[in-house]
Amino acid sequence: MRCAVCYRQARGFGYFNARWRYSNAGQEDSWQFCSMRCQHVFSQLMNKTEGYMIDPTEMERAAMRACLKPLGERVAELGIDQTLADYHRDEVLQLIEVVITAYQHHMVAEHERLAEKERAYFEALREKRERAAAIGGLHR
Ligand SMILES: [Zn+2]
Repeated sequence: MRCAVCYRQARGFGYFNARWRYSNAGQEDSWQFCSMRCQHVFSQLMNKTEGYMIDPTEMERAAMRACLKPLGERVAELGIDQTLADYHRDEVLQLIEVVITAYQHHMVAEHERLAEKERAYFEALREKRERAAAIGGLHR
């Protein structure tokens, strides 16, 4: 089982979507995570979307694009003149590690960015309501 956010191996942190409890209980409405950090950003995202993910496919595509530069840099370090078949096993593993690290970094950072954006929005909304209530109080 992999972490639903960064795809590292999950380690027992879970999330269950209660909105489908009776109609669709099963694998599609529960997720596993590698850490409390990933569980936290995921639950914030699910709470704000009322159980629906926001276009994870585009987020995953962006994470893949984020891998291109570090992958290209590592290929250049190993020698751009050799074909993939010429790589040693350890060199291929280095390439895989570079891609996975960049992918995970992008996915976690993006989930954190979305959670922060949402938090800032609701904070601004709360302040606006408090100001309106304070002004309303002055006119009484
Ligand atoms: Zn994770």
